[in-house]
Amino acid sequence: MPGVYREKQCPVCGITHRKRGEYCSASHAAQNRKHSAETIAKIAQSNKERVADRTSDAYLESAANLRDAAMKSKGIVRDPIPPRLRDDRPGEVIDGDYWVSADDW
Ligand SMILES: [Zn+2]
Repeated sequence: MPGVYREKQCPVCGITHRKRGEYCSASHAAQNRKHSAETIAKIAQSNKERVADRTSDAYLESAANLRDAAMKSKGIVRDPIPPRLRDDRPGEVIDGDYWVSADDW
């Protein structure tokens, strides 16, 4: 058949496929990749530089994402809870805060 790659087996999962290249997917190609010691050293150095400034927005955001993911995996949900609206003190929510009039206090 023209335009179709020959059937082959993915070395990672053993599935038969007709895709381009040896592997069934990009993730399986990445799994089977062996990095040289030089490449590993470069990756480690770049990771160290990335987290060196612990006050940068990128660092704080990724730290918050990791913390949220760890909490969610333990079943702890820390989503913000909207303020409870009281019937006896009518007010309004502005930027997530509940405001009541000073006259109603
Ligand atoms: Zn595979």
